[in-house]
Amino acid sequence: MKKILEDINRRIADAATGCGRDPKSVRLVTVSKTVDAQRVAKAIDAGATILGENYIQEARDKFNALVDRPVKWHFIGHLQSNKAKYAVRMFDLIHSVDSLKLAIALDKAAQKNGKCQDILIQVNISGEESKSGTTEDDAMHLIEAAGRLEHVRVRGLMTMPPYYDEPELARPYFRRLAALGQRIAGQHLPGVAMEELSMGMTGDFEVAIEEGATLVRIGTAIFGPRQ
Ligand SMILES: *Cc1c(COP(=O)(O)O)cnc(C)c1O
Repeated sequence: MKKILEDINRRIADAATGCGRDPKSVRLVTVSKTVDAQRVAKAIDAGATILGENYIQEARDKFNALVDRPVKWHFIGHLQSNKAKYAVRMFDLIHSVDSLKLAIALDKAAQKNGKCQDILIQVNISGEESKSGTTEDDAMHLIEAAGRLEHVRVRGLMTMPPYYDEPELARPYFRRLAALGQRIAGQHLPGVAMEELSMGMTGDFEVAIEEGATLVRIGTAIFGPRQ
């Protein structure tokens, strides 16, 4: 496990330096969905510092089992508003906010917890029906409205391009997310900091880094194929 994580971190650093970026500007989110707590503990021991989880119930079991471990938890799956209170208790960053209804639910839950919840706005750049995320056109409006909420802070954008065998084919989607981030940053909206671009997975993270990713979400390359 240590060797695998070292290899991934080296590939991340190489991709960053290869395009003139500081390797420290890219962080690895170790995607641990479907992986049991024991193996996740091994990944933490081997150096994983951020875990990415997709399902609230599954994350709660692991979170409780690993609560005293020095690791941050990020939520990357589709989140229903009625689960906002659980999400706020566990996650330092929620990558997948795609509606004002959800942002408002998180704001309320965060207020109750005396917390300011960091979120990313998930954008469906490809427009595929099967993908969550706000449209590119609606993103600005959603971000402006979410930024006005007192207990959430918009930290950036997330996307999932269509699945391709050839990572180059994902590049235009990463580039469009980065361009959207720059347009939004140029608006200087209150409560909004466009610092993070969450994009790139096992098959395409190097291309995503070349296009500006600051968070890459990698599961399969670390834990092997999922059932
Ligand atoms: C599962 C998942 C990943 C990790 O994908 P791999 O191809 O296994 O690296 C990244 N992001 C999201 C949103 C996921 O659901």
